[in-house]
Amino acid sequence: MRNFPKPRIVVSACLNLKPVRYNGQEVRDEFVLKLLPYCEVLEVCPEVAIGLGVPRERVIVYRRENSFGLSQPSTGLELTEKMESFAETFLKTLQGVDAFLLKSKSPSCGVSNTKVYRDPEGREFHSKGRGLFALKVLDRFEYLPVEDEGRLKDKEIREHFLTRLFSVAELRENKERINRISELMDFHQRNKYLLMAHSQRKLKEMGRLVASAKEENLRETLSLYGSLFLQAIRKKPSRGQQVNTLLHIFGHISRNLKEREKAHFFKLVEDYKRGRLDKRLPLEFLKAYAYRFENNYLMAQTYLEPYPEELMV
Ligand code: SF4
Repeated sequence: MRNFPKPRIVVSACLNLKPVRYNGQEVRDEFVLKLLPYCEVLEVCPEVAIGLGVPRERVIVYRRENSFGLSQPSTGLELTEKMESFAETFLKTLQGVDAFLLKSKSPSCGVSNTKVYRDPEGREFHSKGRGLFALKVLDRFEYLPVEDEGRLKDKEIREHFLTRLFSVAELRENKERINRISELMDFHQRNKYLLMAHSQRKLKEMGRLVASAKEENLRETLSLYGSLFLQAIRKKPSRGQQVNTLLHIFGHISRNLKEREKAHFFKLVEDYKRGRLDKRLPLEFLKAYAYRFENNYLMAQTYLEPYPEELMV
């Protein structure tokens, strides 16, 4: 069982936290409810922060020539500058934050599915897009996990978000703790298969960086390593990448298995590859044998338990 870090996450205040929506209500979301106790939460409601009351008239995002604007059609209020300036000031103050969990469809917080209009009066629909605050978040924190509760209904997106959330938190804690190259090597080893599943190319690049690191420039190496780590895990791995990683891990235990056990594992992997089975099954197989053979190297791999099991829903 891994000791998980407590991720620091910025959350839209209306997600299970406070009734600050335009209609004076909050949104109940089961997954968010489950996740919040595992995290250090920093709540924010950008619309309340720029002085809009609760309840309030509808706010919309509209298309400008090369950017987006925010307005309140019924009052004629133009809110773009206020929101941009709040977002910049607020985001600048954030220290060591690991992720953002925002409210979907919102003209301020939406990471997806926000209605964008052609005009500040909201007369003509233009397209689906993002909220103004979310755009600033994505711009400033390009490599951190930023999602909304709507996108997290998709199981694969949710799993990838959780994997990144706890990996980024672990990276942050380790960057603060690591004082020797051997400790960085240990961190890299524990994350080897997690990195392999996401990007073989980055895994190799990071391996070279760690191998050539010197004690005297450990801080610079750690900073570069941290950036590469965030870049490596940014994109959701394909099934093919996951299968390749599962087979690599299997290579550590296969010589101790009977033919029937091997055949069973290959069947699980094949079923996962064809979308008939969850990745959890081949993973649990590998974990069980890592425990049985007391393979410390495998037992320490974050890939086998990337986030608390209770969050797997
Ligand atoms: S979506 Fe964002 S701006 Fe709207 S109520 Fe929720 S926290 Fe506030």
